[in-house]
Amino acid sequence: RSQISALGTSHLTTATEALSGNDAPRLRNLIGGQLVESQARETIDVINPATQEVVSQVPLTTNEEFKAAVSAAKQAFPSWRNTPITTRQRIMFKLQELIRRDMDKLALNITTEQGKTLKDAQGDVFRGLEVVEHACGMATLQMGEFVSNVSHGIDTFSIREPLGVCAGICPFNFPAMIPLWMFPVAVTCGNTYILKPSEKDPGAAMMLAGLAMEAGLPSGVLNIVHGTNDVVNNICDDDDIKAISFVGSNTAGMHIYSRAAAKGKRVQSNMGAKNHAIIMPDASVDATLNALAAAGFGAAGQRCMALSTAVFVGGSRAWEELLAERAKALKVSAGTEPGADLGPVISKQAKDRICRLIQSGVESGARLVLDGRNIVVPGYENGNFVGPTIVSDVTTDMECYQEEIFGPVLLCMQAETLEEAIRIVNSNKYGNGASIFTTSGVAARKFQHEIEAGQVGINVPIPVPLPFFSFTGSKASFAGDLNFYGKAGMQFYTQIKTVTQQWKDLPSQGLSLAMPTSQ
Ligand code: NAD
Repeated sequence: RSQISALGTSHLTTATEALSGNDAPRLRNLIGGQLVESQARETIDVINPATQEVVSQVPLTTNEEFKAAVSAAKQAFPSWRNTPITTRQRIMFKLQELIRRDMDKLALNITTEQGKTLKDAQGDVFRGLEVVEHACGMATLQMGEFVSNVSHGIDTFSIREPLGVCAGICPFNFPAMIPLWMFPVAVTCGNTYILKPSEKDPGAAMMLAGLAMEAGLPSGVLNIVHGTNDVVNNICDDDDIKAISFVGSNTAGMHIYSRAAAKGKRVQSNMGAKNHAIIMPDASVDATLNALAAAGFGAAGQRCMALSTAVFVGGSRAWEELLAERAKALKVSAGTEPGADLGPVISKQAKDRICRLIQSGVESGARLVLDGRNIVVPGYENGNFVGPTIVSDVTTDMECYQEEIFGPVLLCMQAETLEEAIRIVNSNKYGNGASIFTTSGVAARKFQHEIEAGQVGINVPIPVPLPFFSFTGSKASFAGDLNFYGKAGMQFYTQIKTVTQQWKDLPSQGLSLAMPTSQ
C-alpha cells in the first residue's frame, strides 16, 4: 500500500518511464484513499496506439478487492452524506483549479494512451472540467420544493438526498470527460463512488482521482477498480451499489442496463450512435464543408457525436468532391506531432473492423471517394492509422450504414427533398445527434421539430450541450430516463423525500379512522 498523495503525478511519471523503455508499470486500484496493488494474476496492456509501446498494465481486480472497494465506499457514506453541501462544493471549486493546473499533463496522458491530438485531448479535459464547474453550484441545483399550509397548520416540503454508493463504467474515447460526467455530480450530491475506467486508457481517470483527493475529497468517497467484464458484472450485482452510470457500446450498455435493473438499480446508459448531417443546397458552402470535415474526421471519428453520415439534399451533392479535397489535406499523425489533425484509432482490432466495414460498403455497391485504409505515417509505421475516408452512394440496407463504424469514415447519401432526408434519419435506430446545414429558417424549424434525435444541431456539427443542460441521446443511443449532467444528472444521483409536518396547538379532534383529507 502506498499513500495517495503522489497519485496525481505518479501515474504520469511511470507512464513516461515505460515509454523510455522501462518495464510498464502496473496500475493500482484506489480503495479507501490508498493505492492498492492488485493480487490479480491477469493484466491487460495499455498500448500507445501510435507506437504500440506498452504504457502500463491494468489488473483484472479480484472479487475480494472489488468488495473491499464497495465496503470503503459504504463506510465513507454516512459522514460524507452529512458533510455540508457548501464544503462538498468547495472541494469541486478546488478540483477545477487543480484540473486547470494539470491540463497539459492530463492531455499528454490522454494522447499517449488514447491517440487523439494534444489539442483535442485538452478539449476532452475541458468538456469534463465544465461539469466540475457545474457541480460547484449543486446547492442551488438540488433545492427542494415547499408548499405552506397544505392543510390547516400543515406544510409539505421535498428534499433531495443522496442514494449511497454509486458506480460509473467508462468507455475509451473520452478518458477525462466521461469520468468527469460521472463522479463530480455523484459525490457533490453526497454519494460515494466506485469508478471503473476503460481498460484501454485508464491513466487520466487515475490522475483525476489523485486531483480530487488533493482537492480534499475524503478517503473512500471515490474509489477506482480496474478490469473488464467481471468487475462490471460485480458492479451490476452488488446490493450495496444503488445506481450505475454507463457510457460505451450497445452490447455492453444493454447488458449492464438489464442486469443492474434486475437488481433494482437505477441505470443511465449512454450508448452508440450514427449521427447524420442533412446538407441543404442553400447552406453556406465553406462553413458546412469545414464542419463536416471537422466532425467527421476529428478524433479519428471516435466521438459518439461524430458526424458519420452526410445526407446531401438536391444540388448540394456536388459538394462531395470539395469535401474530399478538404479531407485529403488533413494531416494524419501521432497526436503529439505538431500540426496533426487526427491521430490513430484505438487498437489494431478497431482498425481491422473499420477497414472491413468500408470494404463491405464497396462490395455492396457504394463508391469510395477517398480511401484512407492504406495510409502510412512516416515515423509511426506501426500505428493504427486510418486516413479520412469518404464512401458515397450509400444506402440504408448496407452493413456500413447499419453498424456504428467509429472511425474516420464519412458515409454520403443523397435525398431529393428535406422530407426524404428526415425520413432517412428517423428510420435509423440510433438517436444520439443530428444536424442540419441551411440558411433557411423554415427548413431549420421543420428539421428541429420533426427529427428523432436527442441532440439537434442547426449549423452546429457537434451539438453536445453544456452541463447546465443534459446530454440527451435518445432511441437506441440511450437507456434509462434521467440523462447525464444538468438537472437530470442531479436527479439521477438523488432521491426525493417528501416531508409533511404539523406544528400547531392541537385541540383534541377525537379519534377518526377515515383517510385524512385536506378540506
Ligand atoms: P465498450 O462498450 O467496449 O466499453 C465500455 C465499458 O464497458 C468499458 O469499461 C468496458 O470494460 C466495459 N465492457 C465492455 N464490454 C463489456 C461486457 N460485455 N460486459 C461488461 N462490461 C463490458 O465501449 P468502448 O469501445 O470503450 O467505447 C466506444 C463506444 O462508446 C461507442 O459505441 C460510442 O458510441 C460509445 N459512446 C457513447 C457515448 C454517449 O454519450 N452516447 C459517449 C462516448 C462513447
